[in-house]
Amino acid sequence: MKLQKLDKNKIKNKRVLLRCDFNVPISAGKIREDFKIKQSLKTIVFLLDNNCEVILLSHLGQPKEGFDKKFSLKPIALYLSKILARKIDFLPYDKYSKFVDIKKEINTKSKNGQKIFLLDNIRFFDGEGRDCLRLGKSLASLADVYVNDAFAVSHRTNSSVSAVRRNKPSFAGFLLNKELENLEKIIKPKKPLVLVMGGAKIASKAPIIKKLYDKSSYILLGGALVNNFLKAKGFNIGKSLFDDGSDKIVKTYLNSKKIILPIDVVVGFKDSTGRMIKKIKSVSEVSDNDFIYDIGPETISLFSKYIKKARTVVWNGPMGKFEDSNFKKGTVMIASQIATHARGSAFGVVGGGETVEALNLSGMSSYMDWVSTGGGAMLDYLSGEKMPGIN
Ligand code: ADP
Ligand code: MG
Repeated sequence: MKLQKLDKNKIKNKRVLLRCDFNVPISAGKIREDFKIKQSLKTIVFLLDNNCEVILLSHLGQPKEGFDKKFSLKPIALYLSKILARKIDFLPYDKYSKFVDIKKEINTKSKNGQKIFLLDNIRFFDGEGRDCLRLGKSLASLADVYVNDAFAVSHRTNSSVSAVRRNKPSFAGFLLNKELENLEKIIKPKKPLVLVMGGAKIASKAPIIKKLYDKSSYILLGGALVNNFLKAKGFNIGKSLFDDGSDKIVKTYLNSKKIILPIDVVVGFKDSTGRMIKKIKSVSEVSDNDFIYDIGPETISLFSKYIKKARTVVWNGPMGKFEDSNFKKGTVMIASQIATHARGSAFGVVGGGETVEALNLSGMSSYMDWVSTGGGAMLDYLSGEKMPGIN
């Protein structure tokens, strides 16, 4: 069923199956980053305040075959119990578990006053990876109504966002709504719109560049995807990362005045003792043994000028290999520029797994107008792709 607006008159006192995105980095049972969990709280608290019984549902990582402790959501249950200051009942299962039994367990516990449950990783079931009617029906059988608040997987044809809604009253959670509201401001932007794109592969960013090309005043390109453009322009890119089979998009935009390419780069190369040396070079000076790992200082300054012109700015994809502190400067500086400008007159949106990590490195995330919880989902939504979890 179509997602309706969350309305307390329609959900009061009901049992709700709430699809969240708790796919956060966890090491040895410790949650390293809780941004997505915190963003989910508003809907959870709203449901609890309206006397709902809440069954939380999420995926975590990509388990291969059924239950795998490494991918269990148990640490999330403990974490949520702490921040909500109430006991979350954790419901473990593997792919052989039967939903009738899970439902019985929920019934028994809810009779004893338990209000909030967390199902283990839904990807322990094979059916989650497609639109499996059987799994969707089983999930739906657990509750009276369904709420989707997992924007980050709403571009996927997954049972827990798609099949589950068949014949079930379904609602959009507050986070999902907020994502759509903010991304709508990119689709109908205050102009000038400036797009800042980086990251590893041009192929994954091509659809959004195509879709937003006409609306954008400038498209600033950094990251490894720029290597394709530099090579096509006849520059030597040495041993830099290169995305084979993306000639078409590069050819389309190579001579566009809107596309702004780096004028200098930071390269890394190993000296005779194997030590990594870094050097700032103009794009015409890159030699055979160089790896282009970041944009250079003149490019940072050039990009900043364009960012300052924007009334709407969207950023996806790091400007360089920022995980290595030798090559993080370009990304962190551009993050700061965008955040500062978003704090001022522009509307600024950032999305992408690594991009958000890099934004956090800059320490300026709170200045952004919107930090999306979805990387692929944001790109797909802005590119006008189908969203099986929404439409
Ligand atoms: P996001 O997940 O934010 O959408 P991507 O997955 O597209 O971002 O790309 C992120 C990765 O791109 C980072 O891990 C970063 O190290 C890598 N990257 C960016 N520029 C370069 C470069 N010049 N050379 C090698 N890797 C790069
Ligand atoms: Mg990524």
